Amino acid sequence: MTGASRGIGAAIAKELAREGADVVVNYRSSEEQAESVVDYIESETDGAAVTAQADVSEPDDVERLVETTHEAFGAADVVVNNAGITMDGKFESIGREEWDAVVDVNLTGVYNVTDAFYDDVKSSDAGRFINMASIVGEAGNFGQANYAASKSGLFGFTKTIARELARSGATANCVAPGFIETDMLADVPEKVREKIVADIPLDRFGEAEEIADAVRFLAGDDSTYITGQTLSVNGGKHL
Ligand code: NAP
Repeated sequence: MTGASRGIGAAIAKELAREGADVVVNYRSSEEQAESVVDYIESETDGAAVTAQADVSEPDDVERLVETTHEAFGAADVVVNNAGITMDGKFESIGREEWDAVVDVNLTGVYNVTDAFYDDVKSSDAGRFINMASIVGEAGNFGQANYAASKSGLFGFTKTIARELARSGATANCVAPGFIETDMLADVPEKVREKIVADIPLDRFGEAEEIADAVRFLAGDDSTYITGQTLSVNGGKHL
């Protein structure tokens, strides 16, 4: 479970643990927050958990993530590629640095982690890749060319992996959240927030737990015939 120290990832880690899963709580720098997710899982659920520091954009770090996973719990059944960042700005104002940074984490990071856990998931009886895309990958968004490209890339990647895994019975799907109340939205100015909400039929931002519910469904036994799909969880916002 990548990017599980905060926001949507922390909510997913807790939800999967409440379902009885053992969870590897990956983070890049928020060690304390990752530890508090592990504390919650160990005290409030039947699942077990360990933290694992790794930058998903760094193949060596991802190798360490695999080692930690295997040492703690053996082969992985479900891999949730959730880690993601934004570095926003109009296309004319962002440069190569912002492009590379976002694509390296949001798209190449998913490649790194998928590659590293591919054999585990393929040989599992309940193998699942679940990739966190975004409404921004579906529709584009002002000031987010790099982020939109990185998230759009996940759709084609996931559909392809889904086809290639299909004979094994393992599945690969995307979840595409709309606008969810986490640190990622914290810097959005109030005026822009109001404008975004005005365009959401359910008239509010989503909660991280509502994304975790969708991931629980795709990770569990009720979704065995769903693969190569995108589950959009966005308050009814049409594209
Ligand atoms: P967030 O609150 O900013 O949390 C991001 C998480 O990703 C943190 O756990 C962070 O770890 C981790 N992370 C970032 N870069 C990493 C890296 N290189 N290696 C490993 N972990 C890394 O974000 P969020 O809102 O929960 O978003 C989670 C996912 O949902 C992202 O992929 C995001 O693009 C997607 N999403 C979010 C929204 C939204 O409205 N919030 C909408 C659509 C899609 P540290 O704590 O250590 O930094």
